[in-house]
Amino acid sequence: MPELPEVETVLQALRPHLVNDKFTEINTYVNKLRSPLILSDVQGLLNQPIENLWRRAKYIVLKLKNGYGLIIHLGMTGSWRLESMSVDRQKHDHAEFYLSSGLVLRYNDPRRFGQIVVFEPDCDLIKHKLFVNLGPEPLTDDFSNLWLKRVCKNKKKPIKSLIMDNKNVVGVGNIYASESLFRSGINPLLAGGAISNIRLKRLTRAIKDILRDAIKAGGTTIKDYSSLNGEEGYFYRELMVYGKAGDTCSKCNRGIIRQAYQSGRSTFYCPVCQR
Ligand SMILES: [Zn+2]
Repeated sequence: MPELPEVETVLQALRPHLVNDKFTEINTYVNKLRSPLILSDVQGLLNQPIENLWRRAKYIVLKLKNGYGLIIHLGMTGSWRLESMSVDRQKHDHAEFYLSSGLVLRYNDPRRFGQIVVFEPDCDLIKHKLFVNLGPEPLTDDFSNLWLKRVCKNKKKPIKSLIMDNKNVVGVGNIYASESLFRSGINPLLAGGAISNIRLKRLTRAIKDILRDAIKAGGTTIKDYSSLNGEEGYFYRELMVYGKAGDTCSKCNRGIIRQAYQSGRSTFYCPVCQR
């Protein structure tokens, strides 16, 4: 499933192609993805310059000059292709956006857990139902050591569940939560409230560093993720624990990487390095 670095990579790939271009025609081929897909009748989306694209959590926001726009989530298997109009549509292409540049942007999503939602000019995005309950962005100063300390205070919940909760901080999914906890030497099963401030400080740093490194590497391609036009991400080469159960830890050369299950998700950690 695409996490924050993957979505950021897709955003950075799309932005230079789309800003200042216009949608001339929009077609959809299913009635709904995760939520209803209602795009083709929205006149406000057509023939208006695309002003900007940005990311909030794992959503990409695309805003047109007239104030209309799209909120896009890749779900589990969503991906985009930008190609010539002469290229045929593929299986699982559920929406296509013709551009005045002569190219067409196609959204492909075999499992259909993605979302493409229209917003109108009078919409206050901060209060949009998809955004209103989201916590701070991990790469901004809003996500600080102080914030994480407050999040963890007196909590019996495991630290990994706390940092994966969107209300506490957005975009830290399973891969990067596992890797951040490894880098900061914290056992993922430890209760949030039991972790000293100095270790939480290390974790705050690790989350930011790992996400930045992963964005630089174009994300992590395992299973279904690819960036624009099928481009792979190379952060999987730098993974230390995620998906490595049974391997000897390459940091301490002693611990055997363990796999545990927390609220239905796999957790990977080194029992020697992570206490
Ligand atoms: Zn180790």
